Amino acid sequence: MTTGLAIVGSGAAGLMAACVAGGITSDVVLLTDGGLGRSNSVMAQGGLHVPIDTPDGRRRMLLDMIAAGGPSLDQRLARRFIDEIVPTVDLLRSWGLALDVDDNGGIVRRLAGAMSEPRIVGTGDRIGPSVIRVLRSRLGQTGVSVTTGATVCGLSPVNSGLSIELTDGRRLRARTAIIATGGGTHHHAKLAGEPCTNPANRNFDMSAILSGLGIPTVDEGMYQWQPFGLLDAASGASRPCVPESVVGHGVRILDRDGAEVVAANAGRAEVTSAIKNAVDDGRGIRASNGEWGVWLTLTDVPERVLSNEFKHLAGILRRHDLTGRDVLVAPYLHYQLGGFKMFEDCSCVVPGLYLAGEVAGGVHGHGRLMGNGLTDSLVHGRRAALSAIDRLGGPVSGAGQ
Ligand SMILES: Cc1cc2nc3c(=O)[nH]c(=O)nc-3n(C[C@H](O)[C@H](O)[C@H](O)COP(=O)(O)OP(=O)(O)OC[C@H]3O[C@@H](n4cnc5c(N)ncnc54)[C@H](O)[C@@H]3O)c2cc1C
Repeated sequence: MTTGLAIVGSGAAGLMAACVAGGITSDVVLLTDGGLGRSNSVMAQGGLHVPIDTPDGRRRMLLDMIAAGGPSLDQRLARRFIDEIVPTVDLLRSWGLALDVDDNGGIVRRLAGAMSEPRIVGTGDRIGPSVIRVLRSRLGQTGVSVTTGATVCGLSPVNSGLSIELTDGRRLRARTAIIATGGGTHHHAKLAGEPCTNPANRNFDMSAILSGLGIPTVDEGMYQWQPFGLLDAASGASRPCVPESVVGHGVRILDRDGAEVVAANAGRAEVTSAIKNAVDDGRGIRASNGEWGVWLTLTDVPERVLSNEFKHLAGILRRHDLTGRDVLVAPYLHYQLGGFKMFEDCSCVVPGLYLAGEVAGGVHGHGRLMGNGLTDSLVHGRRAALSAIDRLGGPVSGAGQ
């Protein structure tokens, strides 16, 4: 097999890249190791982080990202990321993504931790399934050739392109490729024996291949926790959590004596370490699964808001007999902050190879703001596709990015 562009992975980054590239040329192959869209992306809950679309609005978002991400955040990457969010989300909306709107038809913006103003847009608490549904449907309108159950196990530069090896022995020659294989948090959590929000996956396996190609890493080994893991609903490997956007509804985090542990709308790292410290200091409460946590006062969220805006969460609470109660929470491993180094156009040190999504590092530094995970994957999926098409010689057929 030979192709102009091979895309590996069908989370938000890979599907977005395939939809954008497939709108320009049909010389695109999408390879993914499970079913189409099986990914961390489809699990996303709270929403997308979208700046107010003015120079000042984008500047405020950048300042919030720098405050959360610290010195290792790559400001050039972050600036370009922010600049491309609105066009990317507009594209998704033109393909059918219906964001929550208020009574006047304006897009609802919600608050999350360490945000100076409400910027989270979403579809209730089901942004992942909504985005993946729209992308799958759009992909069906392109000529992209999709191969599911295709696990990439080797990648090597060859004359004017890349050779891609699959575990079943097949090989594909591609002039350009986009790696969108996500983050290795599930693997890391398993090794560390820590609870994790990510479903079981083999995303981490790609790291050895990319390292073998000499692609440098940024903040290697750096992971982020989601502070609101729902202890009394923990079952199976992938564990549910309360979307962080509840912090806009006045929830509090309380220890066993009812004392506030930390402001719920502080940054993820701050909330995570305050909860862990409270538990270590003996101020925690034991949950039904035997683990220790602190109270998150979901009873502060009006019932009408919970049942309308947090339908998925409300369903989990119902199934575990937690409706109308405060819940016990503790941090779960959630997101890979470190990753492989990409440049602003998503290229890397290997000619013809592009990176997109959680597999790449640098955009968030040491602290990712809520909503910036899926958004990162979508923005860079689009950018990587445009860069790869450019390298192939520009638009070939069709239109629409
Ligand atoms: C429970 C949960 C809630 C979240 N909520 C939010 C939220 O509200 N807002 C937000 O912004 N972010 C959220 N995130 C984070 C966000 O979903 C992810 O960061 C983002 O979607 C990652 O997208 P991706 O496309 O880079 O990777 P993934 O979605 O992980 O996709 C990787 C793809 O690559 C495939 N793959 C891996 N290795 C190979 C291989 N060797 N060969 C072929 N295919 C391979 C995988 O099967 C998969 O299809 C959440 C994450 C979780 C787990």
